[in-house]
Amino acid sequence: MSAPVYCRDLPHIDTDVCIRCHSCVRECPSKVFSVGDDKAVSVKAENDCISCGHCAAVCPPGAISMFGGVPERLPNTRY
Ligand code: SF4
Ligand code: SF4
Repeated sequence: MSAPVYCRDLPHIDTDVCIRCHSCVRECPSKVFSVGDDKAVSVKAENDCISCGHCAAVCPPGAISMFGGVPERLPNTRY
């Protein structure tokens, strides 16, 4: 039997759609995003992301998609 794996999706920004409003930066509870000198937003601290999807929900033009499915072991799980 294969070991159980928890897949953690991460935010991806479509830079062609992003209007640089910075809602995601303000709303993210884990401070995952950073803003460059050109005001462009990027995902900097993806290891801190809790995959809540709030950034995607508050993004006005829908520039953020959650995917990736990073496999992780669940804490206190025996394999
Ligand atoms: S999914 Fe949640 S924790 Fe992750 S970047 Fe978006 S708002 Fe932040
Ligand atoms: S909320 Fe969406 S449009 Fe606004 S800066 Fe973030 S990714 Fe860009």
